[in-house]
Amino acid sequence: MMVLTKKMIEIRSILQTVGQSNALTLPSIVVIGSQSSGKSSVLEAIVGHEFLPKGSNMVTRRPIELTLVNTPDAHAEYGEFPALGLGKITDFSQIQRTLTELNLAVPDSECVSDDPIQLTISSPHVPDLSLIDLPGYIQVAGHDQPLELKQKITDLCDKYIQPPNVILAISAADVDLANSTALRASRRVDPRGERTIGVVTKMDLVDATRGASILNDRKYPLRLGYVGVVSRVPQQPSHLFKRGNGGIASAITRNENAFFSAHPLEFGQESGVSVGTTTLRKKLMQVLEQTMAASLQSTSDAIRQELEEATYEFKVQYNDRPLSAESYLAESLDGFKHSFKEFTEHFGRPQVREMLKEELDQRVLDLLAAKYWNKPVTNLFPATAEPDSLADLPKADPDNLYWHRKLDASTSALTKLGIGRLATTVVANAIQANVDRLIAHSTFASHPFARQAITEAASGILNERFYSTSDQVENCIKPYKFEIDVEDGEWARGREHATGVLKNELRAVEEAVKNVEKNVGSKRKLKDVMGFVEKARKGEVIVGDDGKTGAGGFSSDLLERGKEALFLSDRAILLKLRLQALKSPQCATKANKYHCPEIFLDVVSTKLVSTAVLFLNVELLSEFFYQFPRELDIRLGRGLGREEVERFAREDPRVKGHLDVIRRKELLELVLEKMEGVRDLESSKRERERAR
Ligand code: GDP
Repeated sequence: MMVLTKKMIEIRSILQTVGQSNALTLPSIVVIGSQSSGKSSVLEAIVGHEFLPKGSNMVTRRPIELTLVNTPDAHAEYGEFPALGLGKITDFSQIQRTLTELNLAVPDSECVSDDPIQLTISSPHVPDLSLIDLPGYIQVAGHDQPLELKQKITDLCDKYIQPPNVILAISAADVDLANSTALRASRRVDPRGERTIGVVTKMDLVDATRGASILNDRKYPLRLGYVGVVSRVPQQPSHLFKRGNGGIASAITRNENAFFSAHPLEFGQESGVSVGTTTLRKKLMQVLEQTMAASLQSTSDAIRQELEEATYEFKVQYNDRPLSAESYLAESLDGFKHSFKEFTEHFGRPQVREMLKEELDQRVLDLLAAKYWNKPVTNLFPATAEPDSLADLPKADPDNLYWHRKLDASTSALTKLGIGRLATTVVANAIQANVDRLIAHSTFASHPFARQAITEAASGILNERFYSTSDQVENCIKPYKFEIDVEDGEWARGREHATGVLKNELRAVEEAVKNVEKNVGSKRKLKDVMGFVEKARKGEVIVGDDGKTGAGGFSSDLLERGKEALFLSDRAILLKLRLQALKSPQCATKANKYHCPEIFLDVVSTKLVSTAVLFLNVELLSEFFYQFPRELDIRLGRGLGREEVERFAREDPRVKGHLDVIRRKELLELVLEKMEGVRDLESSKRERERAR
């Protein structure tokens, strides 16, 4: 049993998952030969299956790194492409098709590529071997092939036939060995013939004496010798031998044995030459085992060096901090839930009340502006037939139905605004915005997958609660649609609050005017343009349609600013008038509510908000605060599979780097441990041999 090779092959597949550097490459047997020298046939005879691409049009375009794994206790034979994740393929014609596709994916214009295809074949009938099949050497490039193809193939093969690899040089018996491209190539890199095995195929095509003399060749002596084979699949009636998925090993061996035993003198025990696929297999196993043993030390050293680098990187870049995808997710989730908990402590009834009140204040402001203060400033003071201006409002006759209707209409415009929907929307939006803010400040910020999961968790709950919440709120404010009682205290607070709202609004407008001023450059200039716009409005000057060219010596841009400033200053005048009205002595008492719609509507909006908040708290906030962390657990905790957790963690490049270095370190430690074991095994074997 070739224990060492088996272990080393295991080790190599671990190293492959680490993304091993070239230094760690363990020895393989590299198969080279001219096109049609019988290279594929030899490999297939060793594997016992036809699985390599066939065809005349350069079908091997990429190196095939073939790992054979002996599975003595298993019945099944299968191939796997580790890089493709296709799983175990038991149909060898399927393997052949896949290999053909992978090779033909290299465009005709390039013809060869040095990107290897990895294929592992596991079977109780194969030895543990690692072989690399390369594109066959060509004599001259075909008319549809690039001229430099010959050189490209040579370069690719040269890359692989370096030490510590073993070279399997294939030559056909019916071609003079002196002309063998494979042997010539091997001689270049292995002039003393120390790591080359010569294989002479198609022994059946030359007569036995000549065949035997080829195998005894002394011109290019090889320490590992030559082996003669007949590895073509024999043509037999189909009932005796099934081509395709069935094994071809025994048919080849029978055919080969028949041929060689027919010439005992040339190929028999006494002849001193090696022949047969079985002999070749054994030789390959022995040679590879010895080569593996010889490279144990250097491979261990290379792995140790790699491990030291990984350890150093772990220490310097990651401070030796342990991490796993699971722990990272769990910590991130905990952190997020914690920040959510903090948010819930600062987002309760008072905050919701304030938010809603602000929203309604704005509505009241606009609503009253439309109902009471809807004339342009210039038209405000001239006496009109209708009592409808600041001039009239303070004198409003409380018995005049006109003012009653006006206030009633304003009030019902407010109560029938759709408070239920509005309030629920405002709060739901605020919650969603806060969740977004929490995400942005959490480790999840750099994880698109988690961001989406969290956002969806929040919107899912909010959407689900939306209709029932807004219905409940709407229902409970219903009484205010019919009757509103105001107490003295409420009136006083309303007056104060409404004053504050108007003042704030006025400040904002004045601020905006200042900004326009700044934009225009000077107060003076703005005044000029405002004057012009004012005149234009009254029809005193004519501004053409062509806004682009401007008018009155002002650019169109400047005119726009003038209009904006005029609008703002009109608004400021109105706001001042509204404030003035609020301050008037009439507004001190609720008895004069018809004089003071600003205060009355403020009181109404406060009542609406207080009632809405009670229901929003129960129906939306409490529910959300309870459900959201549970929903997070489902979407990002228990509900995630291992692979998803891994994929999640690796979304963040820093975490990926951290996880990679840990994995690399762990795998290298594992490999090194295994290597030590293998070395112990080897040295005890040597000791036993010495003792014998
Ligand atoms: P490759 O191009 O080097 O891979 O060569 P193949 O293995 O495809 O073989 C080329 C041709 O030689 C095919 O038609 C094979 O059937 C034939 N061939 C391979 N080995 C032998 C052999 O030992 N004896 C005979 N007579 N033909 C062989």
